[in-house]
Amino acid sequence: MAHQQAQAFLDAEVVHQRLHASLQVWLTELFALHSAQDVPAIVAHQRHVGEVHARIQLPMHLVARGARLLKGRLLQRIAADGAAPALVEASMAHIGALFDLALELMAESYVRDTQRVARSEEAFRLHALSQNLQVERERQRFLLANWGQELLFALHRGGQPLVLPALRSSEFGLWFMHKGSNVFDGAPEVDLVHQGMQRLDEALLPQLAATTIDDPRRATLLMQLQGELDNLQYLVQMLFERHVELESGRDALTRLLNRRFLAPILAREIHLAQQRHIPFALLMLDIDHFKHVNDQHGHDAGDLVLQQTAALLLNDVRSSDFVFRYGGEEFLVVLVDVTPEQARQQADKLRQRIAATPFALANGVHLSLTASIGVAPYSGHPDYQYLINQADEALYRAKRGGRNRVCLATGAA
Ligand code: GH3
Ligand code: MG
Ligand code: MG
Repeated sequence: MAHQQAQAFLDAEVVHQRLHASLQVWLTELFALHSAQDVPAIVAHQRHVGEVHARIQLPMHLVARGARLLKGRLLQRIAADGAAPALVEASMAHIGALFDLALELMAESYVRDTQRVARSEEAFRLHALSQNLQVERERQRFLLANWGQELLFALHRGGQPLVLPALRSSEFGLWFMHKGSNVFDGAPEVDLVHQGMQRLDEALLPQLAATTIDDPRRATLLMQLQGELDNLQYLVQMLFERHVELESGRDALTRLLNRRFLAPILAREIHLAQQRHIPFALLMLDIDHFKHVNDQHGHDAGDLVLQQTAALLLNDVRSSDFVFRYGGEEFLVVLVDVTPEQARQQADKLRQRIAATPFALANGVHLSLTASIGVAPYSGHPDYQYLINQADEALYRAKRGGRNRVCLATGAA
């Protein structure tokens, strides 16, 4: 109960009324295993406990910690009993094995159930998204503005005490709390919207409610209110834009795949490479001295160059390959079914093509550019991040070596 995370699940009353007794039953049952016939029921019970833990979202590491404490106490008691050393040793082995088995079974159903929950959450997000996002965005922007209006009316009406509508209880606030923050889960703007709503409801509204119509402080507070509302409108706009982009899995500027799909695609390629021995390779490509383009021709010119680079890459790889926008002016290409040598040749073809292409700017100017490429052929490591790091390291060497060149990851054939 002293553990901070565990406090959310335990308090003296809950422990006293329920958990103490059920833990005793669990222990008694676990140690009452006498014959093979007892096993199925005990196994089923451990699985059930794992499912319950998954439902209440009790972190797995807390369960493991509890088991460790419990095991420690049992062993202490046995040692203190003064039993023969051989018996103590045998008891320790027995207790250890039983606890390990119970935890393994719990973890098995815990993970399965947690994945099921994650899948249905994803399904919910997709469902929520399939509703028209443009319409939803306009509606929420309207509802947010509407709350501002209602607030102004309430202020104007006056009355004692002055009752102002909280943003959290408004239709916008409810939508955000129950749907929006779920649909946009993971976007940094979600927390910012929550914080903005909190500032409005808990700081600004009470201050406004304490003023009268002729109070000079009210004008300042109303300016703050406008600022907060503008900020919220902006954040909501960003959330919808970001999500339209996420939904299609494409980067808004280049229409290439965005990083969201990198993990599943690489995991799949690694799986294919392991199961069917189909090799693949990563190319990490970075435009050389790209900052000069922005500095000398402006950010819009830089954007045009990125779009043309993306088109060039897409044109020059097979339709089975994947092209991602990895970062600002960094691209990641997954070449499927290639040997390391084929990957290196393909990378060099891309490098030459970029060097030979006149990049057209809006004012009719043409730029010559080069790019550096790191090549990392799949080498048997199961973690795709390892492969990305290898491609990164090779790219770094290409830059160090003078740019406009291709380097192969160290250790690659
Ligand atoms: P190097 O040869 O070492 O790669 O030099 P560099 O100038 O290309 O590298 P650096 O990574 O220092 O600079 C990349 C620049 O790309 C910085 C950033 O302002 C710019 N950038 C990132 N994303 C975009 C974008 O979407 N559009 C535009 N126009 N510029 C971007
Ligand atoms: Mg660069
Ligand atoms: Mg860069």
